[in-house]
Amino acid sequence: MKCLICQAASNTVHAAEDWSEIACSAGCGRYRVSANLVAKMKFRNEFFDIERTRRWLKMSRNDDPVPLISTYDYNVSLLHRDTEERSVIAPRRARQSLTSD
Ligand SMILES: [Zn+2]
Repeated sequence: MKCLICQAASNTVHAAEDWSEIACSAGCGRYRVSANLVAKMKFRNEFFDIERTRRWLKMSRNDDPVPLISTYDYNVSLLHRDTEERSVIAPRRARQSLTSD
C-alpha cells in the first residue's frame, strides 16, 4: 500500500476494521488512519497536505506514538487546500455532509 500522506511505497502494519496502521519510511513514520477517512478521500479525490500532516503527526506523537488521523483532524487541519475553487463548484449539499459525521 502507498503512504496516504506522501504516496511513497510503505507498509501496512495492521489493517483493522475501522483503521489501518501504516509505516512510511519516506518521512511520515508510523500512523493510523481511519477507514472512514480513507474512503472519503478516495471518493472526493482529496489529498493530505504533506508538510502540515507531518508536523501534526510529530506533535501528536507526544501523546500517542502511533497517532490516529480521524476525519475530524483531516477536515480541521490536514486537508490539502490548493483546490479552493472546487468548493465553489461543489453543490451546497456536499458541503453540509462534511459536518454530518
Ligand atoms: Zn509518507
